[in-house]
Amino acid sequence: MAWCLTGWDGAYYRKGLPLGATGDFTTAPEISQIFGELIGLWACAVWQGMGGPSAFSLIELGPGRGTLMADALRATRKIPDFQKAAQIHLVEISTTLRKIQARTLKGACAPVWYDDITTLPSGPAIVIANEFLDVLPVEQHIYHDGTWHLRMVGLDANGEPAFMRGIPALPPDALLPAPPKNGDILESHPGVAEIMAGLAKRKTPLAMLFVDYGYALPAYGDTFQAMRHHAYANPFETPGAADLTSHVNFAEIRIAAQDAGLAASAPITQNAFLKALGLELRLERLLMSAQENQRAALISGAHRLIDPAEMGTLFKVMAVNSPDLSTMPIPPFTITT
Ligand code: SAH
Repeated sequence: MAWCLTGWDGAYYRKGLPLGATGDFTTAPEISQIFGELIGLWACAVWQGMGGPSAFSLIELGPGRGTLMADALRATRKIPDFQKAAQIHLVEISTTLRKIQARTLKGACAPVWYDDITTLPSGPAIVIANEFLDVLPVEQHIYHDGTWHLRMVGLDANGEPAFMRGIPALPPDALLPAPPKNGDILESHPGVAEIMAGLAKRKTPLAMLFVDYGYALPAYGDTFQAMRHHAYANPFETPGAADLTSHVNFAEIRIAAQDAGLAASAPITQNAFLKALGLELRLERLLMSAQENQRAALISGAHRLIDPAEMGTLFKVMAVNSPDLSTMPIPPFTITT
């Protein structure tokens, strides 16, 4: 998975344009401007909760086309001290997307780019990550006759790549939801602990917001998937040409955060999060000044974000923060301008 996504020049995230109508998938900020705007207000409230430091890092992990950050900065224009204090840092592996991000954010900020989190500057930071954790390589364990095995890729009898039971190996204990049965698959993401530990090393205060599709409680199941041209694909067919993801295990994020000395909120649904931040009010405001031909798209975009049949409940939001922040940076809260 790591090799297909980022490991070589032809890897999925090192070339081409994964997002949008011509790509393989679309994301919340590309569906509605309200998503990034509300996350901008969230960041502003968190910054105020930090005591309004005169300089801080606003970090985005995997910023895609830069749309979320552009919308967030536009929405916070009325809070000039926040805008002045925010230094924008983008962790992005794709050179194609970096160019698009630079274009999207031109005039709004002067971002600095990083290949990974290890070289980010220290100091107070607010970190935003939408659909970033789901691209971290997944590790799967499968239970068979009293023993856990790693689930691995090998060649079947016809010489074709296939999933198979590999060497015996114990999965992380804390993630087991119940005593296992034959065939149960448990997923974990070693990269989650690396990211938490890496970011926790920074000078505090630190607040992070993770938004992704996934499950709130430990669970068994195989969620590994390949997406190409907005449809499910065979992950073995065109390595590097399809997006590979797995659902985010929010229980794992919480455990990794706590192991790194950070506090984690309970995950809430994207629906609850965006409504608590005022999605409906913002939509009303936008509709008041919209042209007749923009109204339908504004309404359907906003609803797609919160509709339980679309992104409303599958997508979850979790805040993680350094313990020196007294209030959990998750709504409801008020923003003072
Ligand atoms: N947050 C964006 C894009 C999500 S797609 C949105 O909501 O629209 C995942 C993003 O993470 C892309 O920008 C991709 O290029 C980036 N990415 C994937 N793997 C990465 C890695 N290992 N390091 C840094 N960025 C990565």
